[in-house]
Amino acid sequence: MSGLTFLAVHAHPDDEASGTGGLYRLLHEQGARTVLVTCTNGECGDAPDGAKPDQDHHDGDLVAAVRRVELDKAVAVLGISRLVRLGYRDSGMMGWPQNADPDCFWATPVEDGATALAAILMEERPQVIMTYNEIGFYGHPDHIQAHRITMRALELIDYEPTLYFNAIPASRMAVLRARWEEEDRIKREEELAQGIDRAPDVGPLDEDGNEIDMGTPDDEIGAAIDVSSVTDFKYDALAAHASQISPDSGWMAMTKDEFREAMGTEFFKRVTNPMGLEGVVTDIFAGYRDAGTSSN
Ligand SMILES: [Zn+2]
Repeated sequence: MSGLTFLAVHAHPDDEASGTGGLYRLLHEQGARTVLVTCTNGECGDAPDGAKPDQDHHDGDLVAAVRRVELDKAVAVLGISRLVRLGYRDSGMMGWPQNADPDCFWATPVEDGATALAAILMEERPQVIMTYNEIGFYGHPDHIQAHRITMRALELIDYEPTLYFNAIPASRMAVLRARWEEEDRIKREEELAQGIDRAPDVGPLDEDGNEIDMGTPDDEIGAAIDVSSVTDFKYDALAAHASQISPDSGWMAMTKDEFREAMGTEFFKRVTNPMGLEGVVTDIFAGYRDAGTSSN
């Protein structure tokens, strides 16, 4: 299936693995060309010694150097054909002081990133593109900015690709949420036994302090891709980001069989639809295989 190209615009090193790791590997095995655009260097991640970005001895440049190597590893595991780093500084979460850095992605004019991305799109001419929705899936400024530069770049190019946002169906999100709440409740009970009394964890918040709904209504899902044959690779790609995803985190604590069970499908919402697709497709290149591979 030469001539088919998929491109995803991700905010940080590791987002390619969590959001699209299965899809990337699947497309690699199908012989498609795959391109990853990673917008930031990930300076605001945890340092290898565990230092958090708000701690004085946290060295963002060192973190970025470590994450650079980790991203290369993940890209190799997923068989990604081409990695493009836009090289912006990581912005941190909403309200963090890092966002005041004029070099950070969030503080950079959308036009800058959009122009750079448009040049890549014109060169690669991917039929299918993926990024996040307008709230960056979970409210992170760099994810919102990735959305914004992608939407603007689509106005700058001379053809219309099929655009998808990554998504978790609301019904599935409700199940996940119930599980997180139960895990947090058990953890708080254990902490209480040690004399620590804390409020329940909440999910990510928007600028007004309201909890962000990370679910997409089930009837808005436009693609459900069965990646169960390649979840081992997705697991290994996540593991490659060792400085960010600790071995006792939820994903890494799973066996590969459990991981396949939990992560065997990747969901997307269809945003542009030049091929006139209907319903939920199971192939991200639906509409392009029979129609030939030209996107002109
Ligand atoms: Zn991210």
